Amino acid sequence: MLSIEDALGRIKKAITMSKTSETVTLKNALGRILSESAYAPINSPYERNAAMDGYAFSSSDVTIGRAFSLSLIGASWAGRPFDGLLQAGQCIRIFTGAVVPAGADSVIMQEQVECDGQYIYFPVDTVAGEHVRAVGEDIQQGSLLIVAPKKINAIDLGLLASAGISEVTVKRPIKVAFFSTGDELTELGKPLSSGQIYDSNRYALHGLLNDINYTVTDMGVIRDDKKLLEENFIEASKNNDVIITTGGASVGEADYVKEILNKCGEVDFWKIAIKPGKPLAFGKIGDCIFFGLPGNPVAVIVTFQYIVSPALNYLLGTKQTNSVKLTATCTSTLKKACGRQEYQRGILTQDDAGNYFVSSSGKQGSNIMKSLSQANCYIVLPVACEGIQTGERVFVDLIPSTEWL
Ligand code: AMP
Ligand code: MG
Repeated sequence: MLSIEDALGRIKKAITMSKTSETVTLKNALGRILSESAYAPINSPYERNAAMDGYAFSSSDVTIGRAFSLSLIGASWAGRPFDGLLQAGQCIRIFTGAVVPAGADSVIMQEQVECDGQYIYFPVDTVAGEHVRAVGEDIQQGSLLIVAPKKINAIDLGLLASAGISEVTVKRPIKVAFFSTGDELTELGKPLSSGQIYDSNRYALHGLLNDINYTVTDMGVIRDDKKLLEENFIEASKNNDVIITTGGASVGEADYVKEILNKCGEVDFWKIAIKPGKPLAFGKIGDCIFFGLPGNPVAVIVTFQYIVSPALNYLLGTKQTNSVKLTATCTSTLKKACGRQEYQRGILTQDDAGNYFVSSSGKQGSNIMKSLSQANCYIVLPVACEGIQTGERVFVDLIPSTEWL
């Protein structure tokens, strides 16, 4: 069995990063993957401007340790600059964001001066050169703003807009088709007959694949029928970058996924030393990446997070985002056998001093969805671990999109 690190290494090797890009307007760029680094076409600030409401003056009018007065000759408003030139002995009223006129190099806060309508009286402790934002102090023209590839967030939108950039080049979304396999699966809305269960995996995958960078096709349920599986695999591989199936990946009599993948494409590996999620067929049909996930619902979600999601990120050329490792004190006793890396469902809390504690969220069978739904993290137990006693330190990974309890 492959370790998860080796499995991810083989996936990375098998995947060619998508090169196709498209140009989108800034508002449509949120969450997309920037594919060409963005450079600043202008300086920001574009012109010198005031950081405070006050009065703009020249430092040559200041004598250290002496109060002085200057005649007030006009005003510079944000969006309405003063159009004259400041001479010796003069100052102007200025507001935050307004252009600092030629001849001035300093702004004093309005609270620090006295005004009689004609003259402004500056105090002894007036400081030269303050409260003026320099040209290019935030962004210099021609400088690198955002390095590609990067998932564009709200802050990036603000940064790009401040440099006047209205369009960016981003990765084309990747096409993902998914379906469930199994004779026992029933669609929602129909009553269950004996031997049947509801197809929950497709709903979880629908949620897991809800990302602006994926164009998703839900291909429904395929029966445990070799011919049907083959036809669907081949059809899906023609129009998609990635196929994800659930069920039929194990070694039971009706588990055909690996066999059919081998027939119409190639199997790279089909077992990983993790729990849940051991039977996982990874391979390719032509250029299409194939993931045959296990059938058990918890295994589907765990393998999606730890295997499929990083692979989709490789394909898009981004790094995985949830890579921060946390450690916590375990307040439950955890059973574990040596041999596989386990992802046990846990509830992570933090005390007032900032210390993390984690407890088991319940039964750990790979069919038990409720304990996963009640969890906010996985307790990650390494291959060699043979169980955890109360009070031991453990690694935890947050489950994306869950809430703190
Ligand atoms: P399999 O890998 O096909 O042997 O499936 C393993 C377990 O997962 C069995 O108990 C299946 O009934 C269950 N299972 C398979 N597919 C689904 C699905 N789409 N939704 C819920 N449970 C499933
Ligand atoms: Mg099955």
